Amino acid sequence: MKTADIFKKKTVFSLEIFPPKRDADESVIYSTLDELTDIHPDFISVTYGAAGGKNGSNTIKIASDIVAKYGTTSAAHLPCINLTKTQAAEILDSIKASGIENVLALRGDIPDDTTPAGDFSHADELVSFIHDNYDLNIIAACYPEVHPESRNVVEDIKHLKNKVSCGVSHLITQLFLDNRYFYDFRERTQLAGINIPIEAGIMPVTNKRQIERMVKLCGVKLPTKFVRILEHYGDNPVALRDAGIAYAVDQINDLVAEGVDGIHLYTMNDPYVAHKIYGAVHNLVNR
Ligand code: FAD
Repeated sequence: MKTADIFKKKTVFSLEIFPPKRDADESVIYSTLDELTDIHPDFISVTYGAAGGKNGSNTIKIASDIVAKYGTTSAAHLPCINLTKTQAAEILDSIKASGIENVLALRGDIPDDTTPAGDFSHADELVSFIHDNYDLNIIAACYPEVHPESRNVVEDIKHLKNKVSCGVSHLITQLFLDNRYFYDFRERTQLAGINIPIEAGIMPVTNKRQIERMVKLCGVKLPTKFVRILEHYGDNPVALRDAGIAYAVDQINDLVAEGVDGIHLYTMNDPYVAHKIYGAVHNLVNR
């Protein structure tokens, strides 16, 4: 199914997983999926390392199996910064042939150590390339706290509007820990005339290292309430996990009450956490 059609019916609840980093863990992803698909998510998206390689082919295999073996809609992420148009076409042909109907079209992070392939500078060019050549539903990323490379909010929204106009059917946000960033961002998109569904990306923060990485990588700001949780439970992994789950549930309750189009849960391949959260919010998203 194309994800665009699901938003017409309900508040979407979707999951993100990543392919295993080591060959030895390949079977683990399927036991993870056995548990995650019990939730009956509206779709599952599978990340793709911008460096490509084995991780990229795993993305397509897993996204294809999600459809064929589990009967669940999937989306394959595709970062373009390191791809030539010929390589992108090969991957998209394979996505199409594998029964995957949705692609999350991304630029990817600019590599420090290699020169980008040069055919795509930004995600809008990949969106146009897919839109012009493939019958695939296109999703794209957006940033409630503004993309770290954007000079300001105005530039960020201008580029987002252009990307959407190239053929995007829905947006997924980067994680945020303060819903006010999401509401301000949603207002900016409305003012700019961006009228497609926006799914809120929610990451249950269940360990200290994970949040330190996210702050460094994505520039996510930590609200005082969240800092207090880290201070109080930081040295107790089980308590921090439970507090992180409760915090994510709280965020989702508020977002659904404020009419969010969908929730995209960054599962970090952890079925326990995903089940706990879904158990607490399923009546909200399945009305
Ligand atoms: P773009 O939309 O190209 O934007 C990047 C920057 O360029 C922004 O500052 C934007 O304002 C600016 N810009 C956009 N268009 C133009 C233009 N035409 N001219 C000038 N400036 C422009 N990375 C991975 O490697 N693999 C993944 O699987 C992955 N999944 C992700 C999923 C989600 C939901 C999100 C939010 C991010 C994901 N990322 C992933 C990270 C993403 O690749 C990075 O955040 C990257 O830095 C930006 O990608 P983008 O597609 O948003 O880029």
